[in-house]
Amino acid sequence: TNFGYDQVPEAEKQARVNQVFSSVADKYDLMNDVMSFGIHRIWKDYFIRVVRPDPQWNYIDVAGGTGDIAFRYLKEIDRYQSPSQIPTSATPETPTHTYMAESLEQTRIRPTSKCVVADINPQMLAVGKQRAIDNNFHDRIQWIEANAEELPFENEQFDVYTIAFGIRNCTHIDRVVSEAHRVLKKGGRFLCLEFSQVNNTLLRYFYDQYSKTFIPPMGQIIANDWKSYQYLIESIRVFPKQTEFADLIRSCQFRYVTYENLSFGVAAIHSGYKL
Ligand code: SAM
Repeated sequence: TNFGYDQVPEAEKQARVNQVFSSVADKYDLMNDVMSFGIHRIWKDYFIRVVRPDPQWNYIDVAGGTGDIAFRYLKEIDRYQSPSQIPTSATPETPTHTYMAESLEQTRIRPTSKCVVADINPQMLAVGKQRAIDNNFHDRIQWIEANAEELPFENEQFDVYTIAFGIRNCTHIDRVVSEAHRVLKKGGRFLCLEFSQVNNTLLRYFYDQYSKTFIPPMGQIIANDWKSYQYLIESIRVFPKQTEFADLIRSCQFRYVTYENLSFGVAAIHSGYKL
């Protein structure tokens, strides 16, 4: 029953990962809800609040899969730009507010800047594109099939780069972070949401038990795929813990590197700036 993730030869890892996500693509969103009791939604909502979307950015979400992060990003932009957000007191008699209203108006008519979702797996992207159509986002996202370790972009293209629950699936996480650094503009920000290490011993015990006994069987029942979910828990187990990952990000030239634990470290958000 052991997927033997850490024993898989490096050259085969990506192919295995691709199999996993091709196999679960259709059930991926449902599985996330079931396995995390919906908590992944709270983490992702919070992540987007940390990102603080700006309509002027060129934005890229890597390993974006079925679009969860990009959709939240665009929704947040729309929330800011909806007319109801403009203070009602913004009338010509109140110059300060008028100014605010005008600048919001300008922002609204400015063409939406770039929002790119990159992912290596065409099946995951296909689910994402369909969801985008269903949610009326289809003309606002560019879907690009690409490996996070080798992005098909020129240097210094993006203001913000996010990667959520994606980096641990990549074979060389240092290459992923270096690529992020390369495609970011100076002053740009790298933000990563990923499973991490639970910092409380008792909680870690229950979390390990839960992972081992609940996740693969649920994978079997819902996606008819035990192995993919066995892989999932192993990939979490071998991913560097918070401080080690922060060091790696620093070693890839990012500055002001910080991290924040979510749910006692079940997940963590790492952040760094390209200066
Ligand atoms: N970010 C999405 C979310 O939070 O729901 C999807 C996360 S999903 C757990 C991991 C994604 O990483 C999959 O869609 C998979 O195809 C993608 N992936 C794995 N290896 C990759 C690589 N080397 N480059 C780009 N994407 C990759």
